[in-house]
Amino acid sequence: MGFFNTVSVKEKCPECGELATLDFQIKTACSSFGDANGRFAMRYYKVGETLRWWPASDERYNSFVEGVDYVLVDADAHLVRERAHGGCEKCDANLQAEVFIRDLKLEKIESIGSYQADYFVD
Ligand SMILES: [Zn+2]
Repeated sequence: MGFFNTVSVKEKCPECGELATLDFQIKTACSSFGDANGRFAMRYYKVGETLRWWPASDERYNSFVEGVDYVLVDADAHLVRERAHGGCEKCDANLQAEVFIRDLKLEKIESIGSYQADYFVD
């Protein structure tokens, strides 16, 4: 699937050292389907916001990690930790990070670094 969502954070870029908006692409809560407001994909979020998705009462709710390639899930805590590829608005660097999502809320982004070619290889 070529669909993803984007989460941005204001952080110091590890490449240019500037405080900049860093964008990371995630596949959690991503679907070509959606609700009355459009599909659950190609949306822009900030840390602290909640990903739009079906309500927990919907049978599709639990599919929020389908299609996420590199993810760790703690089912009890409803925590998703997704490795993400990203970039810097100021220097166009390729970056990587871990995005933490709890109960579909974008909790934090950690381990922001320069992109390593083997980051997405098991
Ligand atoms: Zn930068």
